[in-house]
Amino acid sequence: MKIPLSRITYVGNEELYSIDAIKTRRLSGSGDYITRFEKLVARKTGRKYCLAVANGTMALELVLRGMGISPGDEVIIPALTFASPAASVMSVGASPVFVDISAENWTIDPREVEKAISPNTKAIIAVDILGHPCDYDKLKEFGIPIIEDAAEAHGAKYKGRPVGSFGKAAIFSFHANKTVTTGEGGCVLTDCSAMAAKMRMIMNHGMSAENRYWHVYPGRNFRMTNLTAAIGTAQTEKWDTLINLRNQIALQYDEVFRESSLSLKPVSSWAKTSCWLYTLYSEERDRILNYLNQQGVDARAIWYPLPDCEAFKNEKRFKYDVAQDVARKAFWLPTFGSLSENDQNRVIQAVLHSLHYEKVN
Ligand SMILES: *Cc1c(COP(=O)(O)O)cnc(C)c1O
Repeated sequence: MKIPLSRITYVGNEELYSIDAIKTRRLSGSGDYITRFEKLVARKTGRKYCLAVANGTMALELVLRGMGISPGDEVIIPALTFASPAASVMSVGASPVFVDISAENWTIDPREVEKAISPNTKAIIAVDILGHPCDYDKLKEFGIPIIEDAAEAHGAKYKGRPVGSFGKAAIFSFHANKTVTTGEGGCVLTDCSAMAAKMRMIMNHGMSAENRYWHVYPGRNFRMTNLTAAIGTAQTEKWDTLINLRNQIALQYDEVFRESSLSLKPVSSWAKTSCWLYTLYSEERDRILNYLNQQGVDARAIWYPLPDCEAFKNEKRFKYDVAQDVARKAFWLPTFGSLSENDQNRVIQAVLHSLHYEKVN
């Protein structure tokens, strides 16, 4: 049987709460579970405000709209990440500017950010790539507003502080493959009451909170459904459990692969990482993946560098050779809380065989 890259792990009241939402007919974007879910996530990150939205990409777009980012503005983004940050900047008519990642931890390199700052720079989207927090003290020095994309990093910490708590605003994704999930879902976190109120309006048709059908902004509908938030509430009640389960899987992998010819993902000393997808890298990546896929293991290559993609070919970029190097060598192994010991051993054996196989030939 095929071992998937990712799979949802249920840990608590998912079924109970969803059935409750169905029975009480509270399915739309207003309801008790929305409020409960928002409060729980805010508490987990120490933030004042949490706004639950339909997905992580819309969370990013909502932050950009809340900050008033518009055509002519530039937003600095790492050259290697899932594409949402770049696409959401373009969705508000602004321009992404791609900069390289650091070889020390694969997050956006503050030295490269500095080179890319122009009079039009309005924000930096700092992505906590693959569960590794960005160097926020360094990024803060430029005095440019930071948007933290913590979609892949639930549970990680920077100098003792949890991800989701950095920058003017932060976002999480709760997509099916993320560590805490609602299938599709996302949220925005901030401590700024003015920006929270503005975003609350924008995501709700631009409507005034006090005066129904009075539209302050040409708004959007970015709301999460109460049914989705019911699942989110159950998952968030077990936030730490879900994070620990994945980190446990990563520890098992680490123990074996530390002794192999493969390289582990680099980690900075100030970071407490949290594993999203377990990542290795090797010059032999494509050959290893071929073998693993033949063995029924859904291991996958990391993203392409975004500046190389068709969608972003006309966007501004600075040198991104670290991103290109990582994109050519890195790959993911199946990682999810409910991965059985047996299946994980199958993955490990397949990887080790692929290396041996390579030597024999
Ligand atoms: C998953 C992800 C998102 C948001 O994804 P959605 O599928 O829209 O929830 C945003 N940024 C990063 C870095 C991601 O990995």
